[in-house]
Amino acid sequence: MRKILQAVVQKPARNATHSVAGGDEKVLRKETKEIPIKEITTLKIQKVLKEMSAALKSQSDGVAIAAPQIGYPLRIFVVAGKIFHKDFAYQDKFDKIPESEIPKDLVFINPVISKLSREKEWVPEGCLSVRWLYGQTHRSKKATVTAYDANGKKFTRGASGLLAQIFQHETDHLHGILFIDHAVNIKEELPR
Ligand SMILES: [Zn+2]
Repeated sequence: MRKILQAVVQKPARNATHSVAGGDEKVLRKETKEIPIKEITTLKIQKVLKEMSAALKSQSDGVAIAAPQIGYPLRIFVVAGKIFHKDFAYQDKFDKIPESEIPKDLVFINPVISKLSREKEWVPEGCLSVRWLYGQTHRSKKATVTAYDANGKKFTRGASGLLAQIFQHETDHLHGILFIDHAVNIKEELPR
């Protein structure tokens, strides 16, 4: 599998909607606000979560999205459930999988990275808000995040590989950092 964050380059989004903010939007450079725990289950926040999943789904190459990417300076990111499907890496096979078999998106509210492995690796990376640039970033191989889910329940999740990279990329978004701020060998790869 060509492991590219937020981009399976073989199949870029052709019919991308304009719901994802471009890299020059101010909201992408702002520090985000924490959500009071009691507000997580309110209609307002649940609506933001729905919008985030819808925006993510509209981008066939997207694997995760942060709230500022759709204009909300809030401390939330969502990981596409599809990355947890056993056939995610096999594009031809994956394209035929019925919607009902794709795992639900994972919601991270007020996420905090509690652990990062000292061991790092260079990985290819892209971003839905920085079309169509790709580069190499130096990311910790493993990461642990503590956050709240859509029901306001606290949880901790450890990850390696792609998910660990997503944790780092998305929490950066929540602090106004984009991957192009620290990536090397940045190149434009237009959709074919
Ligand atoms: Zn991004």
